[in-house]
Amino acid sequence: MSETGLRNELEDLLRRCVECGLCLPHCATWLATGNEVQSPRGRLLLLGDVLDQASPDPAALSALDQCIGCRACEEACPSGVPFSLLERGQQRAAAAAPEPALPGPVLRRLDRPGFLAALRPLANTGQDMLAHLAGRTWRDRLARIAAVQVLGTVPRGPGSDQSLVALLDRLTGNSGPWQAPRPAPEPDAGPLGFFAGCANRGLLPDTSRRLRGLLEAAGFQITVPGNQDCCGALAAHTGRPGRAARLRRRNRRAFAGAGRIVVEAAGCGLELQSRADGPEAEAVDAVVVLAGADLPPLATLGLAVAVHDPCHARHGQGIVDEPRDLLRSIPGVRVLEPDEAEVCCGAGGAWGLRYPHLSEELGRRKARLLAATGADLIVTSNPGCLGRIADGLARESVEPPILPLTDLLWYAAIRAKG
Ligand code: SF4
Ligand code: SF4
Repeated sequence: MSETGLRNELEDLLRRCVECGLCLPHCATWLATGNEVQSPRGRLLLLGDVLDQASPDPAALSALDQCIGCRACEEACPSGVPFSLLERGQQRAAAAAPEPALPGPVLRRLDRPGFLAALRPLANTGQDMLAHLAGRTWRDRLARIAAVQVLGTVPRGPGSDQSLVALLDRLTGNSGPWQAPRPAPEPDAGPLGFFAGCANRGLLPDTSRRLRGLLEAAGFQITVPGNQDCCGALAAHTGRPGRAARLRRRNRRAFAGAGRIVVEAAGCGLELQSRADGPEAEAVDAVVVLAGADLPPLATLGLAVAVHDPCHARHGQGIVDEPRDLLRSIPGVRVLEPDEAEVCCGAGGAWGLRYPHLSEELGRRKARLLAATGADLIVTSNPGCLGRIADGLARESVEPPILPLTDLLWYAAIRAKG
C-alpha cells in the first residue's frame, strides 16, 4: 500500500475514536498512573502527530512505548478502534524505548530454552539467598537494583510432583499415596504436536511434563518435535525481526504434518496463530484443548480458586470460558473473579524488562485484587503472569499461592479415587 493509502487508512481508523473514555478503566497503565497520556484515548490522540512528524515529541513516543500491548482497550471499545493502530504507534516509538533492565547479551539469550534451563537453578538460589540475607522484604529493600527487580519475577513452579502434592494436600486436607495419571489404554483423542516454549521448557519443565501426562491420560497421542524452537515473540518485540522470522521457519519445518499443536503459554500461542510464515498446523492453547477433552476422573477438592487470565489468552485469543469450565469440572472447586479481571498484570514479556518499576506496581495491584477475593489458591496459564503475580503477592505479603492451572488439574486427577 502507498504511503498516502496507508495514511488515509490510519486516519479513517483514528476517526472511529469518539473520545468517550470507556476504555480507560480497562487500561493497566492508566489505572496505575492516572495520566491521560498513559491511556488508550490519550495515546490515540498522540498517534496522529507521531506518525506525521519526522521528529516527534519524545514524551509522545515514550507514552506510546509504555503501552503494554495487552489489547484490553480493543475489547472495551464500543466504536471498534483496533489495537493495530496503537501497535503502529509502538513500532514508531521503538527507537525511543529505554534500555531493558538486563544487559543485551542476557536479553538476547532469553529465547533459548537451554539458557533458561541453566538460569533456573541460579535464579531460584538467588531468590532464596536474597530472602535469607535481606529478609522477606528483599524485593523492596533492593528495589533500586533493576536486576533484582527482574530476578524477583522469574517464574517458579512447584517443581517436583512431591512438592506440588504437598502444597495442595496442605490446602485441601488430602493425604495418602497417589499415582501419576496413566496414558489412556486406547488413545483415541487424536495426535497433538506439543509446542514446548522457551519459558515453559526452561523454567517450568515439571509443569510441562505433568501437562503432557494429563493430555495422554485424556487419550491424546503427543509428539514433541526435537527440532522446534522459540515462537519468535521475544525476538520480534526486542527489535530482531530477522531472528524471529528464522525461528518461525524452523517451527514450520518442525511441525510440518502435525494436525494440531498444543501450546502451553498464551503469548506463544498468539504469536504462532498470528504470523503467516509460522507452522501450518493450527496452534491451540492447552487450556482450550483440555476443556474439550475427556479428562480422567477428578477428585473433590473443596477449594476457592481465583483465576487470572493472561491478556494474550483473554484479549488475544478470546479464551475466557475454558479456564472457568475446567475449574468447575473439578468437584468442590468454587471459582472466584477478582475486580479488574480484564486488566493486565504488568508482565508484558519484554515490556516488563523495559519498565520494571511500572510493571512491579501493576503486579502488586493485581496481587492485591486477587487476594481480596479470599481465594485459597490463584491459578493462571502463562509463565510471565505466574512470575509477575507471585512477585506481587510476596511484596504485598498476602497468602494465597499461585499455580499453573494445569498443575491443579493434574493434582485433582492424581487424588481421584479409583
Ligand atoms: S473506548 Fe474507543 S472510542 Fe472511546 S475513547 Fe476509547 S478508543 Fe476512543
Ligand atoms: S493495549 Fe493495554 S496498555 Fe495499551 S493502551 Fe490498550 S489497554 Fe492500555
